[in-house]
Amino acid sequence: MKIRLASSITHDSIVDGPGLRTVIWTQGCNHNCLGCHNPETHPLNGGFETSTEEIIEKLKNIKLQKGITFSGGEPFIQPKACSEIARFCHSIGWDVWTYTGYTYEQLLNENNPLWNEFLEQIDVLIDGPFILEKKDLTLLYRGSSNQRIIDIKKSKKNNNIILWEE
Ligand code: SF4
Repeated sequence: MKIRLASSITHDSIVDGPGLRTVIWTQGCNHNCLGCHNPETHPLNGGFETSTEEIIEKLKNIKLQKGITFSGGEPFIQPKACSEIARFCHSIGWDVWTYTGYTYEQLLNENNPLWNEFLEQIDVLIDGPFILEKKDLTLLYRGSSNQRIIDIKKSKKNNNIILWEE
């Protein structure tokens, strides 16, 4: 399946979630957050096209990772491709974290089958747009204080938003 990325896969990241992580930088974002650090990831036709098959082959050769993190850009613009990669990552024992400019409530309320399918594969979601007035460099894994680190599995089980704890 085709997928557009903003840049090549990074591995051994320690700033996009706990442990050593591989990061997928998806291309395309529609949130236009003021002060965004990655404006080059916004055009839907920017970056470059690759395939989930090619990415999965690359992931097979990356060792000692705790998990994968989808960043961007807005990963929910390409939910089907991201689901496929996430499913593979779970099959090799990695956890799945995802950034999104949508709030968790917005994602749920939309009830988009492709978004739901991707949400099924996500362990932890860092949600909400980057808000410049709420920028805080001391926050773990986030840029602004409105963004939440949500434990999706626990939240679903409890039917309530449960924040991730280290
Ligand atoms: S959601 Fe992320 S990539 Fe998109 S505009 Fe906001 S900060 Fe930038």
